[in-house]
Amino acid sequence: SLIMLTLVVVLILSACGNAKNAGGSTDDSKGKVGIAMPTKSSERWVNDGNNMVKEFEKLGYGTDLQYAEDVVENQVSQIENMITKGVKAIVIASIDGEALTDVLQKAHDADVKVIAYDRLIKKSEYVDYYATFDNFKVGVLQGSYIEEKLGLKDGKGPFNIELFGGSPDDNNAYFFFDGAMSILKPYIDSGKLVVRSKQTTMDQVATLRWDGAAAQARMDNLLSANYASENLDAVLSPYDGISIGILSSLKGVGYGSGDKKLPVVTGQDAELASVKSILAGEQTQTVFKDTRELAKKAVDMTESVLKGTEAEVNDTTTYDNGVKIVPSYLLEPVSVDAGNVDKVLVDGGYYTKEELGK
Ligand code: BGC
Repeated sequence: SLIMLTLVVVLILSACGNAKNAGGSTDDSKGKVGIAMPTKSSERWVNDGNNMVKEFEKLGYGTDLQYAEDVVENQVSQIENMITKGVKAIVIASIDGEALTDVLQKAHDADVKVIAYDRLIKKSEYVDYYATFDNFKVGVLQGSYIEEKLGLKDGKGPFNIELFGGSPDDNNAYFFFDGAMSILKPYIDSGKLVVRSKQTTMDQVATLRWDGAAAQARMDNLLSANYASENLDAVLSPYDGISIGILSSLKGVGYGSGDKKLPVVTGQDAELASVKSILAGEQTQTVFKDTRELAKKAVDMTESVLKGTEAEVNDTTTYDNGVKIVPSYLLEPVSVDAGNVDKVLVDGGYYTKEELGK
């Protein structure tokens, strides 16, 4: 019964702890930090936000976590509010990387430090550091996967491919696309890859705000205009939410049933629905970026800036935001398909077997 009593006491204490945490942490002896995330509509940003809250709280910071539902004006006013409330630093994953110049001037005037999270913030001097992944490499992994899967290196082809890009106001989208095209373009030039729509520039293939429904509509149009009597063999997709839209469109015209095989479809973020789709033989690949590691990096950077010390960086040449080159730390993305889901995502503790329905 002593054990029972202890258990009850422990349960009550931990319930109190949870209640306190529900409204933000109370141990903010080191002050508050703002976390401005783009949207809850994609799991990754939800994980990013929660991971940062956890890491900041461990260090004794309070947090103010806000999501802007992909509306630029919301994000700007959320950041303004954080400044007014007296946060010491703000970690920002921007919606439009060029829309924060004025609000970052306000942050600077109030001596609030700024860390760019995952996406580069452009046109501002007042970005202290940038924590991200090797974004060019993300695209290289997607392009190389298509190259490998189609057997292009072995001289196979020609194959039909269509290309999708990310949001034109997100600097990352250009890095992903350029990385992928560094692998695919030589095959397009030599005719081993054929883009029947002829849409091959970022202008033509971009998907505003990474919207899966917009990608689905574009895929519908591409299929009806170019593939009535031709088969599509591969689709470069920059993000899992876009891949899901593309796959719906493909399935709508009969791909994936009978002898009409689904094309190779890439992705990014290893979102749960897409990993399940990969296991079900629909989406072919995704690029996993460990949001736990990125959160830790951004929190370390913030702590360094607030302590007035230098943060650890590994890239000081790539991310020119138009005003300065922002000192960056690039983490490594990992390509995932049905063959290494277990090793990377389950053994790595990102998903449990149960979550994946295995
Ligand atoms: C991120 C990707 C994400 C995309 C859409 C990009 O800035 O780097 O991980 O897939 O935004 O949310």
